[in-house]
Amino acid sequence: MNFNLDQLVRKNIKELKPYSSARQESSVEAITTFLDANENSYGSPLPRAYNRYPDPYQKDVKKSLSIIKNTGIDNIFIGNGSDEIIDLLTRIFCVPARDNIIVCPPTYGMYEVCAKINDAEVRKINLQEDFNLDVDGILKAVDEKTKLIFICSPNNPTGNAMKREDIFQLLKNFNGIVVVDEAYINFSQQKSFIAELEQYPNLIVLQTLSKAWGLAALRLGIGYASAELISLMNKVKPPYNIGGAAQSLASEALQNIAQVNEWIVQTTKERDRFTKELEKLNEVEIVYPSEANFLLVKFKEAEKIYTHLIEKKIAVRNRSKDVHCNNCLRISIGTPGENDLVINTMIEMEKIVPTSTHLENELS
Ligand SMILES: *Cc1c(COP(=O)(O)O)cnc(C)c1O
Repeated sequence: MNFNLDQLVRKNIKELKPYSSARQESSVEAITTFLDANENSYGSPLPRAYNRYPDPYQKDVKKSLSIIKNTGIDNIFIGNGSDEIIDLLTRIFCVPARDNIIVCPPTYGMYEVCAKINDAEVRKINLQEDFNLDVDGILKAVDEKTKLIFICSPNNPTGNAMKREDIFQLLKNFNGIVVVDEAYINFSQQKSFIAELEQYPNLIVLQTLSKAWGLAALRLGIGYASAELISLMNKVKPPYNIGGAAQSLASEALQNIAQVNEWIVQTTKERDRFTKELEKLNEVEIVYPSEANFLLVKFKEAEKIYTHLIEKKIAVRNRSKDVHCNNCLRISIGTPGENDLVINTMIEMEKIVPTSTHLENELS
C-alpha cells in the first residue's frame, strides 16, 4: 500500500483556511459574558434555552461514543446524518469533472447522488449474483482518478454483510479511501471495521444513530477514521452542522444503551420469525438472509404485492428496478404487530387472487 492522504486530497481543500466561528476563537470555559456572536442574550421562547450557538465539535456526544466504541475522540466525526459525511468525503477528494468514485450496486443510493452533485464520475461494479463484492472487477476499475470506494456492509438493500477478506483486499490494494458504511452493523454478526482503523489509514467507517439507536429525526451520522482525515472533515464542514437540541438529546440517548440493546435483540428475533412466516406464502419466492433490520424478499409479482400493501396503507420499498433485484421488495422489520399485519394482508390477498387454478375464458 502506498497511501498518502496529503496527495489524495483536493488542492483547494488542502490550502483552505476554514471559517473561524466566534466560539472557536475564544476559550469558552473562561468567558462569562458572551457578546461575540450576535445571539439573543435574553433567552429562547422555549422551556429550554437554545439561544447560544452549539459546540461546533460536539465534544459531549463524542466523549460518550468514544467510550461505547472504544476509540479516540480525535477519531470521531459527527455529521448531519451519515449523508452529510458521504457528501463531505466526495467534496474533499473528488475534483469535479475529473475524478471518480466506485460503488457496488445494488446499494445505498446516496453515494451516487453525492458524486453526481459534485460532478464526479460514478463507476459501477455490480455485486455478484450472490451479493458478494466483485473485488477483481473493482480493482480493475480503479485508476489514478479514483478517490473513493463505497462498501455498504451489511448492504442496503440486499441485507448481507460483505466478506471481511474482500474488504481487506480493497484496503490493502487501493491507495484512495475505502468507505465502509456500517449503518446496520448492530443487527449483524460481523465485527465492526472500527477495530481496523489503526492498521488502515485509508479506511473510514460510517455508522449512524438513525437505525438501531432510533434517532433518525435527530440526524446524527458518525465517521470513524484517522485523526488526519477527521481534521480534514472538520475543516470543510459547516461550523455548526449539528444543532444544540440534537447534541443534548443524543448525549441523553447514549446513556440508555440497555434499551437499544433490547430492541436489537428483539428485532433480530422478529427478523427470523418474519422470515419463516413469509416463506410460507405462495407469492414469496426467496427471503434473502439478512444481517440488517430489513428483509429483501423476491415475489412472483412484486408490483402486485406492493400496490396491494399501499392500498392497505402499508409502505414497503420497491427495489424491483435494482440490478439482481427483479421482483424484490425491501421490508423493514417492524414491531411484532406490524409484521403480523404485513403477513395477514398478504394472506388475505392470496385468498382473493387464486394462483392454483386457471379458469378458461367464456365464449361470448
Ligand atoms: C439509512 C442509511 C444511512 C443513514 O444515514 P443517516 O443520514 O445517518 O440517516 C446510511 N447508509 C445506509 C446504507 C443506510 O441505509
